[in-house]
Amino acid sequence: MTYLHPGEPGFEDEAAGFQTAFRHEAKVIAAVENAEDVRAAVRHARERGLPVAVQATGHGLTTPATGLLISTRRMRGVRVDPVTRTAWVEAGARWKDVLAETREHGLAPLSGSGPGVGAVSYSLGGGVGLLARRFGFAADHVRRVELVTEDGDLVEVTAESDPDLFWAIRGGRSGFGVVTGLELALFPVATLFGGGLYFGPESLADVLRGFREWTATVPEELTSSIGMVPMPDVPGVPEPLRGKHVAHVRVAHSGDPAEGERLVAPLRELGPPLMERFGEIPFADAARTIFSEPDTPHGYYGDTALLTDFPADTTERFLELAGPDAPIGLVTEIRHLGGALSRPPEVPNAVSHREARYQLMVLSGPGAAEHAAQEEVFAEVEPWTLGRALNFAYGDRPAVRAFHSPEVERRLAELRTR
Ligand SMILES: Cc1cc2nc3c(=O)[nH]c(=O)nc-3n(C[C@H](O)[C@H](O)[C@H](O)COP(=O)(O)OP(=O)(O)OC[C@H]3O[C@@H](n4cnc5c(N)ncnc54)[C@H](O)[C@@H]3O)c2cc1C
Repeated sequence: MTYLHPGEPGFEDEAAGFQTAFRHEAKVIAAVENAEDVRAAVRHARERGLPVAVQATGHGLTTPATGLLISTRRMRGVRVDPVTRTAWVEAGARWKDVLAETREHGLAPLSGSGPGVGAVSYSLGGGVGLLARRFGFAADHVRRVELVTEDGDLVEVTAESDPDLFWAIRGGRSGFGVVTGLELALFPVATLFGGGLYFGPESLADVLRGFREWTATVPEELTSSIGMVPMPDVPGVPEPLRGKHVAHVRVAHSGDPAEGERLVAPLRELGPPLMERFGEIPFADAARTIFSEPDTPHGYYGDTALLTDFPADTTERFLELAGPDAPIGLVTEIRHLGGALSRPPEVPNAVSHREARYQLMVLSGPGAAEHAAQEEVFAEVEPWTLGRALNFAYGDRPAVRAFHSPEVERRLAELRTR
């Protein structure tokens, strides 16, 4: 293990992550390689009275570290057990590391749209993935957690060994210790039928309303979302989409492919598609094929509203605030929730707002005008808002609504203190 201090070679690189709008301001970074290093780093911080923060990839950086930052980026080991259908995932493993190992077994983790995202933080923060409506939150399928406590002890936490901590960390994520690894359940999904359809700016209102109606008709094997994205006018973007504010309907269907084909057919009636890509995809390639999210570091600011509904009569105002003619360019995404996400998991956990039917995410670059524009959108959907999703909070935002229900927040606070 190496300790890096400001000004030393390697410090800036180690502090940097996917999110470039904020930056860690650590007094020291512990570049750890295994659980023993994490123990030593926690004790190092304790002896010096430094608060401890953790970074795996920096996708979820919101509050810069001011004390000791544990950098887990070297702990990327993944071990699959095809018999028990589980994966042991080290603290710094990204979903792409997990997918590289599960692929050959025809098994799928509950990963999401970004293969570069860290599997541990994603899973403990909830985790809404490509199979979400069929199997639920990733947090619902965490079987075992290994963590280093504030005292520097390495402990294994299961439903039997410590029910309170096991409940809290799956959905409460932070403030309970530094996680060194997780055991995650895997699912027998080798391929998906999926892809997406793009529509132009003139169809956005119809597509948005139609998407909402369509989601009421689809089974739990189908998880989908609609992104509304101002596409840059650059050669890397497919020609039909260049420079347009498009609607991108993204679909992942893990049932019979012929049924998937039948289920997506009505989407073509929502407007004239600019581009379409559907087909059978190996699960390990699905996130990149379906979502095509940017995978190079950049600065972003954003948040979510977990909604009971997204009524058709909000569409016009929503598009005024976040559509092609909005004064500030915003990226928005509505994910269809429900299905298994709404049901309590086998072993209870701290994930809240399970009754939400949609998740609205609003993203932009950082800046006061962008923040204000986002607030206007969230204010518009306030009547249907239950709360926010912990995983998708990018930047400090005064919490209008909480990540958890008041009862869960209270219990989490008690357990953190303990
Ligand atoms: C492009 C992109 C796509 C995404 N797609 C999805 C998606 O489909 N579904 C979804 O649910 N979420 C998604 N997310 C959100 C993502 O799950 C969260 O931002 C998550 O926190 C990222 O984890 P990380 O390790 O990559 O990031 P980091 O910034 O390294 O970690 C985020 C936070 O997690 C905590 N943490 C990290 N490691 C540990 C540890 N070992 N012990 C204790 N605490 C720890 C720390 O508080 C840290 O600040 C996406 C984010 C991006 C940017």
